[in-house]
Amino acid sequence: MSNIRKDAFELLNVRIEMSRPIKVLLASPRGFCAGVERAIEIVERALEKFGPPVYVRHEIVHNKHVVERFRQEGAVFVDHLDEVPVGGHLMYSAHGVSPEIRKIAEERNLKAIDATCPLVTKVHLEAIKFSKAGYTIVLIGHEGHDEVIGTMGEAPEAILLVETPEDVDQLELADETRLAYLTQTTLSVDDANRIIRRLKERFPNIEGPKKEDICYATQNRQEAVQLLSDEVDVVLVLGSQNSSNSQRLAEIARERDVPSHLIDGPSEIDPSWFAGNETVLVTAGASAPESVVKQCVDYLRKTYDAEVETRSIRDEDVYFPLPKQLLSAIPNSVNPS
Ligand code: SF4
Repeated sequence: MSNIRKDAFELLNVRIEMSRPIKVLLASPRGFCAGVERAIEIVERALEKFGPPVYVRHEIVHNKHVVERFRQEGAVFVDHLDEVPVGGHLMYSAHGVSPEIRKIAEERNLKAIDATCPLVTKVHLEAIKFSKAGYTIVLIGHEGHDEVIGTMGEAPEAILLVETPEDVDQLELADETRLAYLTQTTLSVDDANRIIRRLKERFPNIEGPKKEDICYATQNRQEAVQLLSDEVDVVLVLGSQNSSNSQRLAEIARERDVPSHLIDGPSEIDPSWFAGNETVLVTAGASAPESVVKQCVDYLRKTYDAEVETRSIRDEDVYFPLPKQLLSAIPNSVNPS
């Protein structure tokens, strides 16, 4: 083939390649976990049973669409309990609260409804168990996160927070013989394992939880990104910026050198992310509604003629029962527990 014909052939190939539509791999499992589904149903039923306003301490889950929807339906999100009138209905978010908050609520005669995810409660119970047995607890988590604040509140005098392996090196302990670690439920599995390894190197007798604390939903969504991101050019994670598990999904893709973007919806998509021929992985954090995933996929279909293929790495079939005081909210409600 002459050089001129070869150049023309290559140019044609490039054009064909550029006109190829975007391919979307839709990760599964993605989006709402059982703890978030339960928390959302709790607010829905409380609004129905008691009527607005019902008060929610902090965001019920870390997603701006969910929070905005409930705000419009009459939920009032508060940072401090003195914003709730005496005797009012108060919901605790899926991230849990410290005993201190429960005590203040009791003193104000608030009618508390607990939407704490049972898997967060599991970590609280482990903290109580270890502290009662005289252990110092190293909690692996993100400072300032609602879940970490709640867990530390169970035994403030016994819990030390670490965020990195370097923090482990800085630990100064009076007694290394009774030592345990726990973790936040929504950490990066790999990051947590790095910190646990460092803890075990420094404190070979350290004990851990019987069953790991990072929850099934966090692990499954992370594993899907790990398995699928090698096949794609860009990753889109639906979720809010303050959602820890959504942030971790975006980070995992970046660690594998795949550009990734955490967005609340298709309006945040920047056209410069695509040349028009990429394979794009779309997933969603555990607090992101499926409706925004659908909006995003519809946008990619409409704008880039995207073909969509669902890629499932695992089935999820987890359900957490509602608090008893809400089971009679809807006639004929069924509690499958
Ligand atoms: S992400 Fe995990 S711990 Fe958090 S609410 Fe969902 S299931 Fe519970």
